[in-house]
This record gives sequence, C-alpha cells and structure tokens, in this order.
Amino acid sequence: MMALAGKRLCMGCGESLGGGLAGLVAALTAGVAGHPGVVCGEPLSRHTTWRVGGPAERFFRPAGVSDLAAYLRGLPASEPLFWLGGGSNLLVRDGGLRGSVICLRGALDHIESRGDGALYVEAGASCARVARMAAREGLGGVEFLAGIPGTLGGALAMNAGAFGGEIWPLVEQVETIDRRGVLRRRAAGDYQWGYREVTGPSGEWFVAATLRLPPHDAETAIDVRTLLERRNRTQPMELPSAGSVFRNPPGDHAGRLIEASGLKGCCIGAACVSERHANFIVNTGGATAAEIEALIERVEAVVAEQHGIRLVREVRIVGEGS
Ligand SMILES: Cc1cc2nc3c(=O)[nH]c(=O)nc-3n(C[C@H](O)[C@H](O)[C@H](O)COP(=O)(O)OP(=O)(O)OC[C@H]3O[C@@H](n4cnc5c(N)ncnc54)[C@H](O)[C@@H]3O)c2cc1C
Repeated sequence: MMALAGKRLCMGCGESLGGGLAGLVAALTAGVAGHPGVVCGEPLSRHTTWRVGGPAERFFRPAGVSDLAAYLRGLPASEPLFWLGGGSNLLVRDGGLRGSVICLRGALDHIESRGDGALYVEAGASCARVARMAAREGLGGVEFLAGIPGTLGGALAMNAGAFGGEIWPLVEQVETIDRRGVLRRRAAGDYQWGYREVTGPSGEWFVAATLRLPPHDAETAIDVRTLLERRNRTQPMELPSAGSVFRNPPGDHAGRLIEASGLKGCCIGAACVSERHANFIVNTGGATAAEIEALIERVEAVVAEQHGIRLVREVRIVGEGS
C-alpha cells in the first residue's frame, strides 16, 4: 500500500491479473482502488467452502448500502463485477477473478421482524441466522435454511432449498442495486424461479428481501435438530465441499447415477468424489480448483457414457485458469 493524494492505494490492483497499467489507471481514475474496504489480491480460497480459488483483483466488503452504492458509482463501466455470498456454491478457478468482487457476507447482514410475519433480511445475512431469527419470532417455513451454509443473497440467486422447501415462495419483495449504484424495490412477481434457478431483471443484484412467513406450526414444521443430524449422517460435513455439484435429473438423483457409474472415491489430485455422498466432491487437503474442475468433467463424461444422461451443474464455475 502507499498513500496517494490522501487515498490508500493498493499497489498492483489492476496489474495482478494482467489488467496492466491500463487497469491500474482506470481503477485510480475512478477512485475505487483507494475506496476504504478494498483489498487487492485477496485470496478467494479464504471465502469459498471448497477452500480453493485464486485472488480477487479488488475485493470489497461494503460498510453499508450507501457505501456499496458509492463504490459502484465510482467504478469504470469496463470493470468486471462479481457478487460473492458465502462462496458455498462456487468453484473459483486458480487464476482468480478480474475486476471487483463484492462480498456481502459479514456486511449488510441486518435482520428485522416487521410484524405480521414479515422478516426483512439483508443479503449478507447467513441462512442459518434467518432460520434462527424466524424461530425466535415464532415464524415458520424457513427451517430448511438452517443447514444451508450460504447467505440470503446466494439463496435468492440459486433459489436454495432443502427437504421440500425453497426460498422464493416465501419472498414478498426484494431490494436490488445495479452497477451504477441505483437501488430498486421489486415484487417477487418480477422473478421466475424453478429448481435451483432464478431469472429476473438483468444487471441487478440483491441487497435485501422481505420474507412473508407463516406462524410456526409444530405439527408440520421440520425439526431443525433432526434435519442437521440427517445432514451430518448423509453428507461429508467434515471436509470442504460445495454441497451437491449437480442438479438431480427429473425423477432421479445425481448421486445415485454417479455411484452407479462406479465413481465413489474417484480422485484427481486431492479432489475426490465423496464416499458418503457421491454428488459431493470433497477437498481432501490442498486440492486445486483445476483438480476439482477436472473431476467434475470426468464425472460428467462417465455418467453420460454409462447412462446416457447429461448431468447439469448446480455449482457455478467462475474465474481465470492459472
Ligand atoms: C455442505 C453444503 C451443503 C449444501 N446444501 C444445500 C442445500 O441443501 N440446498 C441448496 O439449495 N444448496 C445447498 N448448498 C449450496 C449453497 O449453500 C447454496 O447454493 C447457497 O444458496 C449459496 O449461497 P452463497 O451465499 O454461498 O452463494 P455463493 O456461493 O457466494 O454464490 C452463488 C451464486 O449466487 C450469486 N450471488 C451471491 N450473492 C448474490 C447477491 N447478493 N445478489 C445476486 N447474486 C448473488 C453469486 O454471484 C453466484 O453466482 C450446500 C453447500 C454446502 C457447502
């Protein structure tokens, strides 16, 4: 770091991923490299549950919504943007991400009950906290979130779900921000959602949502302790992973197909198909993103060859190869 005209400048921002002098000059001109809270070259392996991923050219965790809007307003139009939650559904390649990575986890994480079953949740709040807060308020319907290790923003982007529940049917409205820092309030009806997919207005990201929840009903509610015990029994929780790598094909389970293809325990480097749950790829220690990606491709090829089914990825793969 060095001081320049009263601002903190991360040396190398714009250079680390080949942006070169032009990238550095663009960032400086826009003032983003000196924006408080920006870290240059932050290893994304610290922010993904697979514990892999190269550096973010600029890693920014906003102090609040207005800070986020100010940062976005300062960005050059050419700056690539990536939104990061808990990194629990992401494979970031070893060469990292160019441009700005906006991390809402540990920031924008306010949760507030607004009466009549309305829970206002900022996008960086963890799913587990949403489940706990709802329980404290006597509200139900979100027990399934207790075992999902991401943020509300990531859950909205993925339509996260488990044990028969999913997030979007509970959403009343969302607040979004665009790359010019403009905030909008949108009704849930502006979005279409299905199994682990959501489409809606492009060029906007979630900053908060209002969930409308029914009162807790002991008769029908999923028991959170049972749910977490079941996860611990059936999923390899002790090793870094990103949960299910593939979506379940209609009428079948990706894990069953992978196991039936003889791939349980198959490894490339330190990336292995879990022995406990074949739809999980685990980092057994020091795996690279390249190894994980190669194993994903091998699983796809073997399942297609043996069962004639093309598995669809649930995890998102982003970034530059090394
Ligand atoms: C052990 C384990 C178990 C899991 N079990 C489940 C499960 O039962 N059900 C399930 O659905 N998932 C499960 N997952 C996957 C993952 O937790 C979910 O997909 C989760 O919703 C991802 O949230 P995140 O905050 O980690 O998102 P990230 O992984 O950080 O990001 C995922 C995507 O969302 C986008 N995104 C993140 N924040 C925002 C935002 N604010 N606005 C717009 N886009 C955004 C990112 O750009 C990225 O494209 C599991 C993962 C693990 C590791």
